[in-house]
Amino acid sequence: MRAFSLPRTAVAASRSRFDLLVFESMWYDAPAVGPLRCKDGVIVPSKSGLRLDNLTALACWASLACGGCAISGASKAALPVQHTVVREQLVVHSDFPIPANHRLLEELTARRRDLQQLLGLPMSDEPIHVYLFDSPVRFDEFVRLDHPGFPRRRAFFLETDTRLQVYAQWGDRVAEDLRHEVTHGYLHSVVPNLPLWLDEGLAEYCEVPRGHRGLVWAHLELLLDRINHSGWRPDLPRLERIDPARDMTQEDYAEAWAWVHFLLESGPEPRAIVREYLGELRRDGTAKPVSARLRERWDRPDEALMAHLGTLAAETRAVGK
Ligand SMILES: [Zn+2]
Repeated sequence: MRAFSLPRTAVAASRSRFDLLVFESMWYDAPAVGPLRCKDGVIVPSKSGLRLDNLTALACWASLACGGCAISGASKAALPVQHTVVREQLVVHSDFPIPANHRLLEELTARRRDLQQLLGLPMSDEPIHVYLFDSPVRFDEFVRLDHPGFPRRRAFFLETDTRLQVYAQWGDRVAEDLRHEVTHGYLHSVVPNLPLWLDEGLAEYCEVPRGHRGLVWAHLELLLDRINHSGWRPDLPRLERIDPARDMTQEDYAEAWAWVHFLLESGPEPRAIVREYLGELRRDGTAKPVSARLRERWDRPDEALMAHLGTLAAETRAVGK
């Protein structure tokens, strides 16, 4: 069992995940185990393996602050910087050449416009630095030296007051990983104080290829299984109350995705609700929760989401999935 230490001084110096750092990772596939707990943090299984909780993220911040890192230019490990491709907001660093018009970069830049149109958000010109390692070995070495104590991972997003960064390794799942992590970058470059559930729900929605309407089969299957076998019901206020210092479970990620899919894909009215919410959050830094807005329109928003999942299930059966 893994153990992670979290310096108390780092906790004391940190007020929230947005004060200093936002850390999110796509983890390696991991054996089916329960939450792995250590003294100060917990790692929970996620759809694709493990995700690091925010307390452990603060430990990561501590390692950055105390030990130097890529952010300050004092990385202990060699970062991939031989080649740089700039595509709009993305600054992609690698040690192997990537064609400027590579189809993955085309998709990532197109996703920026998708988000702008879908959510009614402006485009930022703040760079998002994407470091692409050419192998898992080099990526693991970087993590081991610069972020000791981290669990194994495939990619992660890192935000500081001055930089937005994605670290990832080239491989069979790099497209999925980058679609997810770069979405965090696009969102964080224009919206402050994004709630955890909406941040992750939107990233999950965007991690499938364009043209798939954000449909994540694994999340749908998980929720349908929970509905059929354990009487699961959606509860957005519960998601909104999740303490940023606590991680989301696999079911939380699936529910966050489901609410986002409902908001964006079930009609113009729900989409207008999330657009208005994000607009106010961007303008004022705070906004009335999405759940309260939904209750002004539906007596039972949870029933509306259940109906949406039922429609998706029927469509799924119709196409033989
Ligand atoms: Zn994420």
